Amino acid sequence: MRDMSEPSPASTSPEAAFGPVTPYRDATCGELRAADAGREVRIAGWVHRRRDYGGLIFIDLRDRYGLTQIVINESEAPEASEVANGVRIEFVLEVRGTVARRLAGTENSKLATGDIEVQARSVEILSESQTPPFYINEPDAPVDESLRLRYRYLDIRRKPLLDRLLLRSELVRAIRETHHRAGFVEIETPILLKSTPEGARDFIVPSRLQPGSVYALPQSPQQLKQLLMVAGMDRYFQIARCFRDEDLRGDRQPEFTQLDLEMSFVTEQRVMDFVEAMIVEVSRAVVPDRPIAQLPFPRIDYHDAIERYGSDKPDLRFGMELVDLAAALAGPGADPDSTGFRVFDETIAARGRIKAIAAPGMGDASRSQIDELVAFARRYGAKGLAHVSVNPDGTGHSPIAKFLGDERIAAIVKAAAAKSGDLVLIVADAEADLVADVLGRLRQELGLRLGLADLNVLAYCWVYHFPMYKWDSDRGRWDATHNPFSGVVPEDEKLLVTASGDPYRPTRQDPAGKARAMQYDIALNGWELGGGSVRIHRRELLERSFALQGYSLEQMHELFGGILEAFDFGAPPHGGIAMGIDRWAALFSHQTNIREVMAFPKTQSGTDLMLGAPSEPEPEQYSELGLRFVGLEPGSGKAGQS
Ligand code: ASP
Repeated sequence: MRDMSEPSPASTSPEAAFGPVTPYRDATCGELRAADAGREVRIAGWVHRRRDYGGLIFIDLRDRYGLTQIVINESEAPEASEVANGVRIEFVLEVRGTVARRLAGTENSKLATGDIEVQARSVEILSESQTPPFYINEPDAPVDESLRLRYRYLDIRRKPLLDRLLLRSELVRAIRETHHRAGFVEIETPILLKSTPEGARDFIVPSRLQPGSVYALPQSPQQLKQLLMVAGMDRYFQIARCFRDEDLRGDRQPEFTQLDLEMSFVTEQRVMDFVEAMIVEVSRAVVPDRPIAQLPFPRIDYHDAIERYGSDKPDLRFGMELVDLAAALAGPGADPDSTGFRVFDETIAARGRIKAIAAPGMGDASRSQIDELVAFARRYGAKGLAHVSVNPDGTGHSPIAKFLGDERIAAIVKAAAAKSGDLVLIVADAEADLVADVLGRLRQELGLRLGLADLNVLAYCWVYHFPMYKWDSDRGRWDATHNPFSGVVPEDEKLLVTASGDPYRPTRQDPAGKARAMQYDIALNGWELGGGSVRIHRRELLERSFALQGYSLEQMHELFGGILEAFDFGAPPHGGIAMGIDRWAALFSHQTNIREVMAFPKTQSGTDLMLGAPSEPEPEQYSELGLRFVGLEPGSGKAGQS
């Protein structure tokens, strides 16, 4: 009989209480070694594999700690053998027996417990299992993702997802430890909240006690962490769940987790210094075998990042920088207004940009490969993609050589620092941003395709001094590029004015368009890992910034009244950052989709396939909440005509 009488807490040492020993087992499936030979043990777990040799049954018993081989010999343990005969994969067993060294030559060096086996005296079935819908013991076998999501508890039994969730747990632990050591206070902020705009739609929750009113789930704890600084908390952090109702992509989920932090009496430099030191410590603790490319992390001005990499989250594991071809095309003695190639001439006339990258070793790309690159560039808005292939002797050849002439082709090859065998890819457009974006995407795509990025390396970098605003021509206002609360670089404070002088009438001509924000993003291997800023902490300036962002005084008070009022009571200068834990965990475990590091993610359409969320409310919920659905056009997310 199993002894279920638990020792009283007073008589249990923490080690005994926290350890794996329970009334069902003395050891986990990952724990027994050769030195345990001769020990009488009980172990419990899932049947990973079962092999029946007639009279001799082998079972690999599995739990999250590992696998242990159980041997059941019919002649020595006839009852155990009979039970084992009825056992199928994924049954839960408790086995009692003796630890024995495996026979010489039958050890399994790939398994931590591979030197031993447990010779069973008794086998008890604790729980039976149906045949699972996919193989748990073949972790590399491809399984349809919807099946994995529907049976997530089975997917988590498989080693790859289990290992990633364990890594994620280590990541969060390392983050917590570092912050506590640095004097940060961990504070939970509410989930039922008011709208906190971060550029997405809110999820809303109707209130029963205040019919007709809704809570919004936080897109981030932004305002609360700032209020904590006003409260004098000085250093706050939280592993915060955030909610954003937007169309989902590989690196997005409707709810996700951020490391959110805020510090008082800091400058941009100080926040970046702390966050960088924290990142280094966390990376070394969680993925010690992955080298950090560069220390200190490169700090790149936003405009430089766009100029050199065509991206505000550049992948610094490889070079392939963007180069400007204006000087090469103007050439000595050349007509400055005519390159001979119409597309380039029109771009020059429109004061656009002509830029290039040199893709190493792609000089012999086939026609169809080039066509594919052209299609790629077009997908992101380019009108075309010109190319020059570099010959073995270093000269270039190109379909546009007949317009440009050999001298300009040679100048392009030189400007792009292309070597023999390279392919120079050129984008020309009146819109400088478009040129940068298309080449930036090509650079990222080709860098990975051509194997230029060392996949083991962690290349972190900072991009800072983003533009404060971007003109929204539809709404006639300046949208904050990142965060409506971001501070302005002190020398640019004078730019936060409108051309008309009326703060509530922003126009495209406003000096505000040139203002730089005290905003910094942290990128890792071409992904935006996080972003933050030093904030505006003076009410008057915040109101000016909100006015540029198109808010009337009334709207400002409705949406941000709480924080504006708080700023009347002594707000310290403060700043912080938020980093995506899901993205970080994904990058640490070489995944491109954050679903792969979430225990229970939702599908692309925001559905939980396991528990069936979202679902229709119960009829009484409608009446309690004073709600009536007016009917929906299926799949449109819009109210219908009914
Ligand atoms: N609240 C911002 C975000 O969620 C981060 C920050 O500025 O601290 O992106």
